Amino acid sequence: MALIVQKYGGTSVGSLERIQHIVSKIQETKQKGHDLVVVVSAMHGETDRLIQLAQKLSPQPDAREYDALVSTGEQVSTALLAISLIAKNCPARSYTGQQIGIMTDGYYSDARILDVKTDLMKQELAQGRVVVVAGFQGTSTQGDVTTLGRGGSDTTAVALAAALKADECQIYTDVDGVYTTDPRLILEARLLPEIAFEEMLEMASLGAKVLQVRSVELASHHHIPLRVLSSFHPGPGTLVTSEDKMIQKRTVSGIAFSREEAVIALAGVPHFAGVEGYILGKISDAHIEVDMITQNTVGKNTIDLIFSVPRKSYMAAWNIVTQLAQELKAASVSNNHKVVKLSIVGIGMRTQTGVASTMFQALGKVGIPIQMITTSEIKISVVIDEEHLESGVRAIHQAFELDKLPHKMQISMAETGS
Ligand code: ASP
Ligand code: MG
Repeated sequence: MALIVQKYGGTSVGSLERIQHIVSKIQETKQKGHDLVVVVSAMHGETDRLIQLAQKLSPQPDAREYDALVSTGEQVSTALLAISLIAKNCPARSYTGQQIGIMTDGYYSDARILDVKTDLMKQELAQGRVVVVAGFQGTSTQGDVTTLGRGGSDTTAVALAAALKADECQIYTDVDGVYTTDPRLILEARLLPEIAFEEMLEMASLGAKVLQVRSVELASHHHIPLRVLSSFHPGPGTLVTSEDKMIQKRTVSGIAFSREEAVIALAGVPHFAGVEGYILGKISDAHIEVDMITQNTVGKNTIDLIFSVPRKSYMAAWNIVTQLAQELKAASVSNNHKVVKLSIVGIGMRTQTGVASTMFQALGKVGIPIQMITTSEIKISVVIDEEHLESGVRAIHQAFELDKLPHKMQISMAETGS
């Protein structure tokens, strides 16, 4: 007998039929003799609907009231699920985050969980009930309702699993697990049987939207095995786990990409010590985040500085840079906002050599010029023209033989916000 925390996302509770479908899945788990805590998201589209309501009344809704409002979506789905379970003779009770005692800090809309009380859940489990808990919400030390940021139900599930020392935390969603790359772009994408916490964190922060980043951090910190699986198709899904527990270590586990990038280049800037800091300081003063940076010292007296910024901040960054170019007497400024960042992620990179060259050669063979490169311990990123995204991902996917992984993919839509 095990203690399992299951989380069902917005599409998994998106209609009454789907809720009934989950009831049968929960009953299956119960019949195996397991204790079960179930976390649910709001019904698909509900959180977005609530946010729009608030915005119609105020462009900047009061933060406390905003959380009081958006947390209600999860209360509807938890109660509906409990009603449906009880109607099928499966003892269950729904609880809000406040009732359970999910204590958070006071940062509305982006609160962090500080502590989770387990007494009530343990009492209910001892009575043989399924405990259904509203995801995404908690209570501040002031006693106010707080929410955990978009996608926060994942984090609720992991936090409960950690507090209860659960055997596994299962995240049921509408994709079959974590793929080598986005199956909506590349048909050859393969389901990964397992992935390390660190790889998942990189993939998530690079734009893979399967899990909220914070939930992966939390699971990694508390060594909670996380399984991502589909609530619609049977299958083992993907186990997110510690590196030392992995059966097979691949050099590269996945390819992530982001279309949110833009590149700005300042060429022929007269060189003085600190010029790079001066230029990037002006950008960060405007609260624009710089991602990748390359600097060339052409000749002796001038430098070229190329950097990437989020595409949404590109106009603001461009205005600053054109002024700086005049002030510093740069030879030229240019930009390219139709670029993408393409990254390979894998813990095997730490020990293997030749990974970067394999990636660059694969791009070279299909005629894709690389504009920028950055590397870290388990990741290599390049910036390329957006028009080459698909062929670039495919070439790299083949070069690392990711299409040779055994699992057949099943196409399904990705679960976004609820
Ligand atoms: N309902 C919230 C959202 O849409 C939380 C979640 O689904 O995890 O972001
Ligand atoms: Mg989600």
